[in-house]
Amino acid sequence: MGRTRDAFPDYRGEMEYVCQGCGSRFPATELYYTCPDCGGVFLLKDKRFAELMETPGDTWREIFDARAASKNPALQGIFRFYELVAPILEPEDIVSPGEGQTPVVRANPHLEKRVGQPLAFKNEGQNPSASFKDRGMACAFSYLHSLLRHKQWERLLTVCASTGDTSASAAMYAAYVGPPVTSVVLLPRGKVTPQQLAQPLGSGARVLELRGVFDDCMKVVEYLAENCPVALLNSKNSWRILGQETYAFEVAQWADWQTRDKAVFVPIGNAGNISAIMAGFLKLHKLGIIRELPRIFGVQSRHADPVYRYYSVPPQERVYEPVSVRASAAQAAMIGNPVSFPRVRALAEEYQARAGESGFQVVQVSEQDIVEGMLEANRHGHIACTQGGECLAGLIRARGEGAISGDTTAVLNSTAHSLKFQSFQQMYFEDSFPPEYDIEPRSELINQPQAIQGGEASPEGDRRAFIAQAAAEVMDRLGLSSS
Ligand SMILES: *Cc1c(COP(=O)(O)O)cnc(C)c1O
Ligand SMILES: [Zn+2]
Repeated sequence: MGRTRDAFPDYRGEMEYVCQGCGSRFPATELYYTCPDCGGVFLLKDKRFAELMETPGDTWREIFDARAASKNPALQGIFRFYELVAPILEPEDIVSPGEGQTPVVRANPHLEKRVGQPLAFKNEGQNPSASFKDRGMACAFSYLHSLLRHKQWERLLTVCASTGDTSASAAMYAAYVGPPVTSVVLLPRGKVTPQQLAQPLGSGARVLELRGVFDDCMKVVEYLAENCPVALLNSKNSWRILGQETYAFEVAQWADWQTRDKAVFVPIGNAGNISAIMAGFLKLHKLGIIRELPRIFGVQSRHADPVYRYYSVPPQERVYEPVSVRASAAQAAMIGNPVSFPRVRALAEEYQARAGESGFQVVQVSEQDIVEGMLEANRHGHIACTQGGECLAGLIRARGEGAISGDTTAVLNSTAHSLKFQSFQQMYFEDSFPPEYDIEPRSELINQPQAIQGGEASPEGDRRAFIAQAAAEVMDRLGLSSS
C-alpha cells in the first residue's frame, strides 16, 4: 500500500463487469458496453475488494488526506482514490487533465435563512469541460488508454450521444489523449445550448446533429456499438460510473469523513450520476471510511420524471415505465428512459438496506422552481446551472414535505457551470420561454441591462459634454447626488 503521499499504490485489483440484468460476469480485460447475454447494463466490481477491507478505515482516511497534497500526476484528480476507482491501471495509463477536487461552497447566511437549512453547493462546473462528466471520462479514457497499450490498436473511434455535456467532455478527453484516438458526437439538433455545441467543435471532434431528442441519438449510437468497432462513451459504459463515484468520496472528505447529518441532492437524467454516488458512498461505508451513510435525494422535473414516478408509490406497486419528456430548463436531465435505471434500482435497494427507507428518496419539482432555484442561488454568489437550481428546488421541496430536518447539512450538486445554461436565464429575464416550459417570470427576479441614453460618444464630438451628460444620468438612476 503506497502510504507516502507521492508513492503510486502497489495494490492491484481484479475488475469484472457484473450484469445488472442477468448477473453474468465478464473479465475487465475486454471492453464491454452492455451484457452480451441479455443486453443489460453493468457495474464494475473489484473481486479483491475484501482485501481492501483489511485496512482499517482510519488508515484509508489518512492515505486519502495525505494524497490531497501529492505532486504525483498519476494520483491527482479522481485518481487520488486510485484503489477505489480502477486499480488495474498503471501510472502511464492515467489520463487526468484536471478533473475532480471541485470546491464545496457553503451558502451565505442570507440564503441559508431563506431556505431554512444549512446548505452548500459542490461546483461540478469547475471541472475542465465545466461539468461532472469529466470524472467519468477520466476513468473511461484511462481504461481505453490501457487497452490501447495492451492490444496495440491502430485506431480507436470514440462515440457518444449527448444532451451536451457528455460530448463536451468526451471530445476534450479524446483531444487530450490524441492519436490514435478520435471522437464523434451525436447531438439532438437545437437541443443543446450554444456553449455546449461550441465545446466539441473547439476540441476538434466530428459533430453530427440529428433531428430528434436525446433518446433518439442514443438509439443510433447503440446501433453503431452493436455493429461497428467503436468505443461508446455514454453512461451505459460502466467505466464512467466508476469515475463518477469520486464525487461521493470528495463530499465525504470535505465533511472530514463525518457524513452523519448530511443529505446529498442529485439531479437525475440518465441516472448514471446518482448510481455512481450511491455506489461511492456504499464503498466508503463497507471499508469503514465513513460510519454512517448520508441521505441521498434524487431530484427530477415534472417534465421528465420516470424515476420519481417509480419511487412515488409503495414498493409492491412499483412498475418502471419510460415517459415522454416535455421541454425542461434542466435540459441535461431531460431524459424519459434513463439507461441506468436498473443500476438505480439495485443500488437503492442496497442503500436502503443499510441506511433505512429514508436513506434514498426521489423528489419532484416544477420547471418554475428549477429556474428560480438557479437564479436564487446565483443571486447569493453561487455559479449554479439549471440542474443545480433543480437541486435547490428539491431541497426546498424535501423541507416542505418534512423529509429533511433543519440540522441536516444539504450538499447540492451543481452539475455544470452556470455559463453553459445562461440561455435559460436569458429566457427568464426576457420572458421568452416558449409556453411548453410552463415558466412565468416574476419581476423581482428579472435583471436586464439598462441603456444610458445620454448623447452619442463620437471621436469628433465633445467628449467632455458626453461624459458629463452620461454621468448625470447614471447619478440620477442610482439616486446619487454630488458630495
Ligand atoms: C449529464 C448531466 C446530468 C444528468 O446526469 P445523469 O448521470 O444522466 O443522471 C445533469 N446535469 C448535467 C449538467 C449533466 O451534464
Ligand atoms: Zn446480462
